[in-house]
Amino acid sequence: MSGTLVLNATYEPLGVVSERRALILVLNSRATMIEDSGVVLHFTGGEISLPSVIKLNRYVRVPYRHAVPLSRRALFARDGGRCVYCAAPATSIDHVVPRSRGGGHTWENVVSACHKCNHLKADKPLKDLGWRLRSIPREPVGAAWRVLGTGRADVRWVPYLEPFGVSSATA
Ligand SMILES: [Zn+2]
Repeated sequence: MSGTLVLNATYEPLGVVSERRALILVLNSRATMIEDSGVVLHFTGGEISLPSVIKLNRYVRVPYRHAVPLSRRALFARDGGRCVYCAAPATSIDHVVPRSRGGGHTWENVVSACHKCNHLKADKPLKDLGWRLRSIPREPVGAAWRVLGTGRADVRWVPYLEPFGVSSATA
């Protein structure tokens, strides 16, 4: 189980909580179940489905935006799961300016790469190889990244994340 996606009353994605925490919110009428996880919890006298997606019944103001944590999963999602140099499926993380040359481990300097390109590039600067990035690496923006940044995702969540900056190819 990957947890439960929590949406604001406006359907804006807020984050991920455990299924049990989500169930308590639903039972206390603080949230409504939008998608069922298919996992049924049995107890004395009955059974109940654990939620995959819930929506808060009252709007919650989000006080400030956290930076999106830089994780392998979030990085692959940003780059569409493809190598930024040759578009093959990504299998590794590359530092555009190599760490050995002072490149930082930041959203602006890390990209998804395939093993072959990563190996060929090694610690050479891009201009020495004549390579070009398909897009300029940036920190991702949009409410859906609060969820993707946690490194957890479920296919049932895709329709709820799509309007907030995530395409189905990346979730
Ligand atoms: Zn490649």
